[in-house]
Amino acid sequence: MNKYNWTVLKSDKNSKARNGLISTPNGKIETPAFIFCATKAALKSISTDIIRSSKTQIILSNTYHLMLQPGGDLISKHGGINKFMNWEGPTLTDSGGFQIFSLGNGSISSEIKGRHLKKNKSLIKITEEGALFKSYIDGSKHKLTPEKSIEIQRKIGANIILVFDECTPYNVNKSYTAESMHRSHRWADRSIEEFNNNKYFKSSYGSSGKQSLYGIIQGGVYKDLREESISFNHSKNYFGLAIGGSLGSSREEMYEVVKFTSSQLKTKYPVHLLGIGDVFDIWEFVKWGVDTFDCVNPTRLARHGTALMRNSKGKINIKNSIYKENLGNLDERCGCITCKNYTKAYLHHLFKIKEVLGLQLLTIHNVFYMNEMMEKIRRGIKNDNIDFEKKNWFLI
Ligand SMILES: [Zn+2]
Repeated sequence: MNKYNWTVLKSDKNSKARNGLISTPNGKIETPAFIFCATKAALKSISTDIIRSSKTQIILSNTYHLMLQPGGDLISKHGGINKFMNWEGPTLTDSGGFQIFSLGNGSISSEIKGRHLKKNKSLIKITEEGALFKSYIDGSKHKLTPEKSIEIQRKIGANIILVFDECTPYNVNKSYTAESMHRSHRWADRSIEEFNNNKYFKSSYGSSGKQSLYGIIQGGVYKDLREESISFNHSKNYFGLAIGGSLGSSREEMYEVVKFTSSQLKTKYPVHLLGIGDVFDIWEFVKWGVDTFDCVNPTRLARHGTALMRNSKGKINIKNSIYKENLGNLDERCGCITCKNYTKAYLHHLFKIKEVLGLQLLTIHNVFYMNEMMEKIRRGIKNDNIDFEKKNWFLI
């Protein structure tokens, strides 16, 4: 029996936004939803109990990081990522392609899609077979192919897994983008073949076959290439589709690409936008039919002292000296344990003394904030008043 299902519960009257339900063997995800990055099988600084109590529906881990440390076999020995990290809810892994192709100097310092300015030194070579790269941990050489990516993702055992692709940077020309897209399509065919390999249904791999596969729409900023990639992906038997590849070098370009691409996708697929999670962008992309988002931003910002806020800027930096003697709670309207129990002055103090509790408390708030915001977006779709909910959320 197929335990994966996608149902649209309510479509917005004024846009392409929809409120839906993705069913997995580990539970349901009500969409639109935000997927938090537990990059190396940990949502940095907070435990799964807190992730759960902050209304989180689904988390994501990165194949690239997990294949290097601790390796798919160890996770498989635990029975998959859920048991490995004590998280019983839905999970997703990416294919590893994004990190190999996009991370400069083997670091994770510039993880905003399409805006990588550093030269990529960890990637050694791309061939038809796959990608050769150097480990950022010890400099050892590794090869990732579509077959290998799927095998590792099978061992990790997340509910939703992705085909292996090349994530093209924004500064390449159209002919390279086309060449890369066609190679990614051939890699997608090989990923599908490996995904359907009988060995996964017979062995003790991760969740032994209980997984679903998403395809990735490529084509960079070129509409004709996006169209070609959409028809390619529509012809495959995917459970869902992700919008990937370069989304351009500016916000305007990104809006254009996402709007064009998502508006052409068949409604029978849940749609995921890879690596984008700005709090203002999400409200727009939902209206164009995007159902799920992932981004390191909410948790990474927290570790740098930025709290997501329900104000016109969407955030504040708690390290700012104006909060030094502010006895007010972080956000009076937020129901998270940080906002209910701690003053801005205390949080400011924790960051000043570099106390790890500060990172933890802000992470808890940012996770809760994102989940609450997605809840309000869903309410806006249910009541056909997304714009009203948005104004109320940011007090604008
Ligand atoms: Zn809060």
